[in-house]
Amino acid sequence: MEQVDCVVIGAGVVGLAVARALALQGREVMVLEAESAIGTGTSSRNSEVIHAGIYYAPGSLKARLCVQGKNLLYAYCAERGIGHSRCGKLIVATDAAQVAQLQAIIDQAAANGVHDLLLLSREQARALEPQLECVAAVHSPSTGIVDSHGLMLALQGELEHTGGLVVLNSPLAQAECAQSAIILIAKDGTQLQAKSVVNAAGLQAQALARRFAGLAAQHVPPSHYAKGSYFALAGRSPFASLIYPVPEAAGLGVHLTIDLGGQAKFGPDVQWVEAPDDLVVDPARGDGFYAEVRKYWPGLQDGALIPAYAGIRPKIQAQGEPAKDFLIQGPAQHGVPGLVNLFGIESPGLTSALAIGDYVSRLL
Ligand SMILES: Cc1cc2nc3c(=O)[nH]c(=O)nc-3n(C[C@H](O)[C@H](O)[C@H](O)COP(=O)(O)OP(=O)(O)OC[C@H]3O[C@@H](n4cnc5c(N)ncnc54)[C@H](O)[C@@H]3O)c2cc1C
Repeated sequence: MEQVDCVVIGAGVVGLAVARALALQGREVMVLEAESAIGTGTSSRNSEVIHAGIYYAPGSLKARLCVQGKNLLYAYCAERGIGHSRCGKLIVATDAAQVAQLQAIIDQAAANGVHDLLLLSREQARALEPQLECVAAVHSPSTGIVDSHGLMLALQGELEHTGGLVVLNSPLAQAECAQSAIILIAKDGTQLQAKSVVNAAGLQAQALARRFAGLAAQHVPPSHYAKGSYFALAGRSPFASLIYPVPEAAGLGVHLTIDLGGQAKFGPDVQWVEAPDDLVVDPARGDGFYAEVRKYWPGLQDGALIPAYAGIRPKIQAQGEPAKDFLIQGPAQHGVPGLVNLFGIESPGLTSALAIGDYVSRLL
């Protein structure tokens, strides 16, 4: 049986970042990816926003890894020539009752170490974005956008440069965890022995972990799926900044993001679904977008929104339950030597990827 030092399951942005971090520590790393290309999962179905680290509970992994990850990501993009823009974002209150929430957002961000938010009057916000309608806003100058595929290619390149390997078309079926090593069994029956295994299988992470013999079932959280659909805007973007309403229960509200090509899109909305592969955008959901968007952009024309794509958030809490933190479990939590499971790596997973890589490499 072939033996490898570390195996990472899943070549999304998080799996690749973890693999890179382990390789930079001098370890031998192999990434097993089920699909025929890297980054075809949630890593290519998101907003590509570099989040500032505003909304997460102070002290949580999401808060810490987002702020660290943002700083690492800007530096990495600059160093490696990966497309990105520090375009900034406005969080907008569209009625007087929401203004108090803006101050609460500034306070929460400060508790997370994000001290650059600025409360703007309607006039100040409109001086930045003349087409915006609001009663007040918060400006976040450290929010930006990134070319997520450029990032993943850079991570893969660095991994391979240090001797690591990404093996495509290699779905892992199950594993047997023992004290001395973990035996991985691929769907085609191939077996591989590894000292360290990182389960970064995204939406499949829990299903896979349930097939790890030797890992107690109580350490695998339930899987829930919250789909987010996007609608692209026909024509030029009316805004240069990202525009967000004040956040709602399970997501950040129907916001406007821009990609590096200048294409504006609205979304993602929140729709709890049963399966992790329900990725078709229902054009009818766009009907609800018009009223939400017009609260901050009355200039939106009828028929301007075009169904674009959808992504699914890997939730570990059910609909209606309070938001949960990233769940990153190493040997100290589940007792299996050499194993790290990554569960619930929803937003801000892209922003946090480099920091998650460092965090996981320290657990092993
Ligand atoms: C709608 C939406 C919008 C988002 N917007 C943002 C944003 O703007 N900013 C931000 O920071 N974050 C955002 N996120 C979160 C971010 O996209 C994710 O946290 C991140 O992409 C997760 O990466 P991953 O590598 O963990 O998972 P994935 O990208 O899903 O990768 C998992 C990989 O594992 C592979 N795999 C699965 N099972 C197996 C198996 N058995 N064997 C081998 N391989 C397997 C899959 O094929 C896949 O390639 C968003 C998420 C969603 C859903």
